[in-house]
Amino acid sequence: MKHLLIVCLALAIGNLCLAQGQQKPPAQQQKEEYPARMTPQMTEIMDPEVKVIQPPAQVGMPPSDAIILFDGRDVNKEWEDAMGNPTKWIVKNGELVCVKGSGVIQTKRKFNDFQLHVEWKTPSEVIGDGQGRGNSGVYLQGLYEVQVLDSYNNRTYRNGQAGSIYKQYAPLVNVSRKPGEWQTYDIIYTAPRFSSDSTVYFTPPRVTVLHNGVLIQNNVSLRGPTLYIGMPEYSVKKHGPGPIVLQDHGNPVAYRNIWIREL
Ligand code: MG
Repeated sequence: MKHLLIVCLALAIGNLCLAQGQQKPPAQQQKEEYPARMTPQMTEIMDPEVKVIQPPAQVGMPPSDAIILFDGRDVNKEWEDAMGNPTKWIVKNGELVCVKGSGVIQTKRKFNDFQLHVEWKTPSEVIGDGQGRGNSGVYLQGLYEVQVLDSYNNRTYRNGQAGSIYKQYAPLVNVSRKPGEWQTYDIIYTAPRFSSDSTVYFTPPRVTVLHNGVLIQNNVSLRGPTLYIGMPEYSVKKHGPGPIVLQDHGNPVAYRNIWIREL
């Protein structure tokens, strides 16, 4: 009988200890319940699926979602002159060549944010110097010029050479090919957003440029539309989408393989 009492007492003490062991301190309970313990799946987003497009056959050619602006054929399909008339620039051997005095050409479409690919070539016959040699330009939204120039052994002001955001930002490096050789620009453009009273940039336009595959403008913020004389102004009139414009600066600069992706 004495032994039975001892066994019962031991079992009672054991159960009491077990019950106490199952009760966790309030702080520990809270830690386990909130926040919920992270699992790998909690940070994995499945939907909506990222849009699938077809990559180009080779880098520099348009992917499947690009708008083809010039493919070596009819220039007047996507382009017009500043008055909305057929351009006088000529297409020769699949190249779109600027004709002196014919004025700019601009896309019929207007764009906001985009990725733009342009191939260009300055004349192999070197004539003139500085800004007078192989000058043209790619205007973003018709307002902001990425300079096209023969900058191969051709000094000019640094914020006006090839790849500059004209008179605002010099390129990070001069990676120009020789005159007569094809060169590429890949331009990523974020359009400005405007303040509520529409008189100043809320966020200014931003531009990234790769020249022949090399980064030369790294997400720079523009100070205003391109000016030849004077300081570009942050204070500008609100504008919406605009065309891509190619400049006639009097030199027979050629273009090919122009495409754009709206972002
Ligand atoms: Mg120019």
